[in-house]
Amino acid sequence: MDAGVVVDTGRVPWLPRQVTFRELCPESRRVDEASGGDMVGVGVHPVWREEPPRAGAADHGGEACPRGERGAQPSVGEAEILAPRDPECGGGLGGLPGSDLRRSAGCRLTIGKVENTHPQAAREQQRDGAPHAEFGIVGMGRDDECVEHGILRGGLARTAPVVRLPRGFPGAYSPLMHDPSPADDPIPAPLTIPAPLPVPAPLPDLDAAAAHARRTAVLASVESLLGWDEQTMLPPAGGGYRADQVAAVATLVHAARTDAAQRERLHRLEDLLAGGRGERLDHEDRATIQRLLRDHHKHIRLPARLVEETARACIDGQQAWVDARRHSDWKGFAPKLEQIVRLKREQASCQSPELDPYDSLLDDYEPGARSSDVSALFDRLRPSIVQLVRACQDSADRPDDAMLRRHFPKDAQARFVRTVAERIGFDFDRGRLDTSEHPFCSTNGPHDCRLTTRWDEAYLPTALFGVLHEAGHGLYEQGLRSDAFGLPAGEAASLGVHESQSRLWENLVGRSLCFWQWCLPVARQAFPSSLSDSTAESIQRSLLTVRPSLIRVEADEVTYNLHVMLRFDLERALVRGELSVADLPNAWDERCERDFGIRPANAAEGVLQDIHWSAGLIGYFPTYTLGNVYASQLMAAITRDQPDLSAEVAAGRFESLLGWLRERVHLHGRLLDPGPLLLAATGMPVSERWLIESLWGRYGPAHGLGGRPP
Ligand SMILES: [Zn+2]
Repeated sequence: MDAGVVVDTGRVPWLPRQVTFRELCPESRRVDEASGGDMVGVGVHPVWREEPPRAGAADHGGEACPRGERGAQPSVGEAEILAPRDPECGGGLGGLPGSDLRRSAGCRLTIGKVENTHPQAAREQQRDGAPHAEFGIVGMGRDDECVEHGILRGGLARTAPVVRLPRGFPGAYSPLMHDPSPADDPIPAPLTIPAPLPVPAPLPDLDAAAAHARRTAVLASVESLLGWDEQTMLPPAGGGYRADQVAAVATLVHAARTDAAQRERLHRLEDLLAGGRGERLDHEDRATIQRLLRDHHKHIRLPARLVEETARACIDGQQAWVDARRHSDWKGFAPKLEQIVRLKREQASCQSPELDPYDSLLDDYEPGARSSDVSALFDRLRPSIVQLVRACQDSADRPDDAMLRRHFPKDAQARFVRTVAERIGFDFDRGRLDTSEHPFCSTNGPHDCRLTTRWDEAYLPTALFGVLHEAGHGLYEQGLRSDAFGLPAGEAASLGVHESQSRLWENLVGRSLCFWQWCLPVARQAFPSSLSDSTAESIQRSLLTVRPSLIRVEADEVTYNLHVMLRFDLERALVRGELSVADLPNAWDERCERDFGIRPANAAEGVLQDIHWSAGLIGYFPTYTLGNVYASQLMAAITRDQPDLSAEVAAGRFESLLGWLRERVHLHGRLLDPGPLLLAATGMPVSERWLIESLWGRYGPAHGLGGRPP
């Protein structure tokens, strides 16, 4: 392992394309020999600016040495690891089999000669404008169960995700993963060690394709703004012309997405990747091309006529839904839904003829997800939830939410929820909050993210949790890279990931005791008489009420998932033609009775309660429960990484929580699909385990039960 050995890190996101080993430090050499060459490689890749070489400092030649310093060559940067990352990981620092991460906590690393600058690091440096060193560590053990890497910033101990990957990482992950079984757990192929590569040449096609994508995003943001206006401001008589406006812009967006010159550029870039010449590109560029291509292939297969017809039908459908729900008029709405289902089935078969039609629609919201995986995950989740709901129902010691059902004047609520949104980090210079029938979050530009909520003066959680939820979406949008607006690097990974952010703030933060230790005094200022006898403990416990009910958006956190599973099963049957629109209300009511023990008295509290289908959002519902699954897994990782989190939240400090999410989730846009993103962020494959543990762990004790399934 003398100078110049290059290890291809192409399978590890966020790292430079290659890492050069200058030489091994004695500790590494010892481990290397002891492992019989099992250690494939480890390296440190430094980048920095304006950091002059310091004569006489030690050099590990690009090697991370937990032991100390050695050698006499000039060094140009150093950093400190202040915290162990994942002590259970067999790879240890730098991926040395058997080494112990804990041993490296607090040690100083000294790094060697600059090879090149990782684009992401360069951008961060430009943004920060401060001289510092930044480098990543990668270790790959051929027979090891994990690959780890980190970006450590000089003196700041800012660490990027430590990734723990099961064997066989080469990338063939379904977005929905469970713990790998030995059967799908092959030994990975040896890493390739290519010759050193030249500095990437600029790619005019990629620049032009990106510029085109940004222009398309401008048009799409106009469409989004029209949608926001329709649901917040539009006078009722303006609806007809609004449908014309939306259809006109949707047609322009579609034309841009299917532009012939863009198609040619993308095909040339596709050829470049297929020809192996993509090695000149970094991870972000390659992922950008792959995602632009994936989108393009979908759009190009949709006839303009279908796009326009669908846009009109959905505007029309939403307007009809508002009326139909108000008057519980299923018959008036059914023909609109029939048309929408027909159009969505046509869309499904056009855009991905190779997929099951429902999978084709699901893929629009959760890239790479397949309904068979979702269904299997729900099947593993459902029994624990049903069991918890029953146990809570049967408990003699149930929380009571009467204190949340007093009088909470709307004006005071408006001031209160804005304070809360601001405190958790929502930036009102780049966003706003309005009122709508159905709360939502809409992004109309890199610095324009709008939340809505609704108000109930007789029930505080309606607006508060509506805002916490939508602000969670908003924090994600505001955390995406504004310099990449309209490009995959600046877009959300999926709706499930989006929902994980909203659920995390709504349920895992907003229903926690530490949150109310901070929030109760703020709430008391807004509602002095209604909350005069409350304590943080009593409010928090009242928020953990479990009560089967008919309306999804008012459901408690536990039964919520059963509402989602109901919709998932029904909409999948609709799209597959196994259920007709005419039979839908009855199917709905029967399932309600089975799952919740209650039958809707009318369509408004049954099949007409959600806006989604009227807006053509079919395949969307499962992302809500996926969001709960992801949120619990993220929170498990955050509390592992930040043991002081509760104390911070109790003091009204949310920066480190938001910072973790920014760094591990937001800043990566959709350069990774949901499964790999979750794996990278948390070090664990997606699993329902964390949601089950989270629900039982919080709702069990609040009902006088144990904190885990019996
Ligand atoms: Zn949401």
